[in-house]
Amino acid sequence: MPETVDVAVIGGGVIGLSVARELRRAGVEQVAVLEREPAVGQGSSSRANGGVRAQFTTRVNVEFSAFSIAELERLDRETGLLGFHQTGYLLLTGTEAGERSLRSAVELQRSLGVAVEWLSPPEVLERVPFLRADGLRAGSFHGRDGFLDPHGVVTAMRQDAERLGARIVTGAEVVAVERARTGFEVTTGDGTFRSRRVVNAAGPWAGRVAALLGVDLPVAPVRRNLAYVREPAGPPGALIPMCVDLDTGVLVRREVSGGFVVAWSDPDDPPSWDTTLDPRFLEALGSRVGHRFPLLEEVPVDARQCWAGLYPETPDHHAVVGDTPEVPGFVQCAGFGGHGVMHAPAAGRAVAELVALGRCDTFDLRPLRPSRFAEGDLVVETAVL
Ligand SMILES: Cc1cc2nc3c(=O)[nH]c(=O)nc-3n(C[C@H](O)[C@H](O)[C@H](O)COP(=O)(O)OP(=O)(O)OC[C@H]3O[C@@H](n4cnc5c(N)ncnc54)[C@H](O)[C@@H]3O)c2cc1C
Repeated sequence: MPETVDVAVIGGGVIGLSVARELRRAGVEQVAVLEREPAVGQGSSSRANGGVRAQFTTRVNVEFSAFSIAELERLDRETGLLGFHQTGYLLLTGTEAGERSLRSAVELQRSLGVAVEWLSPPEVLERVPFLRADGLRAGSFHGRDGFLDPHGVVTAMRQDAERLGARIVTGAEVVAVERARTGFEVTTGDGTFRSRRVVNAAGPWAGRVAALLGVDLPVAPVRRNLAYVREPAGPPGALIPMCVDLDTGVLVRREVSGGFVVAWSDPDDPPSWDTTLDPRFLEALGSRVGHRFPLLEEVPVDARQCWAGLYPETPDHHAVVGDTPEVPGFVQCAGFGGHGVMHAPAAGRAVAELVALGRCDTFDLRPLRPSRFAEGDLVVETAVL
C-alpha cells in the first residue's frame, strides 16, 4: 500500500530540510522528505562556502536575508552547530559605476531596516589592513553578515525537522510523479507515496523533477569553484570580513584555523553537470586576486585544496518559490543560486505559509513566482558572487 502524507518534499538538501521543518512548525501533519542519496545534504549544500549576507540589490532578497540571519543566529545559539562567525561582508569598489550601484544597494538595504555602513577607503583599511587601496573609492559593510558551516546548517535543520516529526527517507530517488484524484502519486525506487501536495526542492536537479509533471522550470546547474590558500607566512591572523572585490568579482575570507578561502565566478559559464575543478578558474583567480589582495598574489594555489559544485541557477538570479499555476499543489522551492544556504530559513517559512495558509504573509513572493519566466517579467539580482 502506498504511504499517504500531506506533503512530499523532493530533495533533502538544506532547502528541503528547512521546508520540512517549517511545515511541521506550521502544523502540517504528515511531512516526508524524499532524498535519493544515502544521506541528506550531499548535493550543492555540501559544496557551499557558507557565506551569509544581507547585501543584495532586490527587496525580496534583502528581506529573505534579514529573516534568515535572525533565524540562523537563533539556531546557532540553540544548537551550537552552525559555527556562525558574524565577521560582516565588506563590498569594495574602485569605479564610479560600481560606487553608484553600491550606494543605491545600500539605500535599499537601509530602507528595509538593514544597518549597512558606508566606509571611506581609510575606514576600509582599518578593517582589513592588508588590502591594496589603490584607486579604492568606497566599501559597504554589514556586521551581521558573515560565514558559517553549511554542514552544520544541514545537521541542525535535519535534527529539528525530525524532532518536530517530519519523516526523512533517504535512498529514495523520485522517478515519477503523477496527478491523482486527491493530489499526487510519487514513485520512488523504494515505494510509492500519496501526497496532497508536492514540493520541488531538488536544487540543481529541480528542472528534471519539474519535467516529471510536464512543467518547464528554468533552473540550470552551473559549476562554481573555490580555492583554499594557505596563510602566506606566520601564524593565522585574526578573522576578517568576507571581502568582495566588486571590480574583479574575487571574494576572500579567512578560515578560523588559518588560511583563506578564495572564490571567483565566471558570469559567462554555461550550464554544466561537471563538478570537477575547472582549470580555467585557477588561471582567472591568479590574474585577479592581486588587484585588492596582494598578500595572496604570490601564494601558490594547490589544486588538491580546491573544490567545485553546482549552483542551481535561474535566468534572473532569483529563486523560484510558489505554486505551479498549471499543476496546482506542485510547489516550487528551488533555484537559489549561490545563496541557498543563507536563504534556507526564509525559503522554508515561505513554503510553509503557502501550504498552511494558502498565502505567504511574511514575504511578497511575487518576484519569485514560477510564472514570471513565461510572462517575461523578470527582475534581475545583480549582486551575484
Ligand atoms: C562552490 C559553491 C559555493 C557556494 N557558496 C554559498 C554561500 O557562500 N552561501 C550560500 O548561501 N550558498 C552558497 N552556495 C549555494 C548553495 O550551496 C545552494 O544554493 C544550496 O545548497 C541549494 O540547496 P538545495 O537544497 O536547493 O540543493 P541541494 O543541496 O543540491 O539539494 C537537492 C537535493 O535533491 C536531491 N535530489 C535531486 N533529484 C532527486 C530525485 N529525483 N529524488 C530524490 N532526491 C533528489 C539531491 O540528491 C540533493 O540532495 C554555494 C554553492 C557552491 C556550489
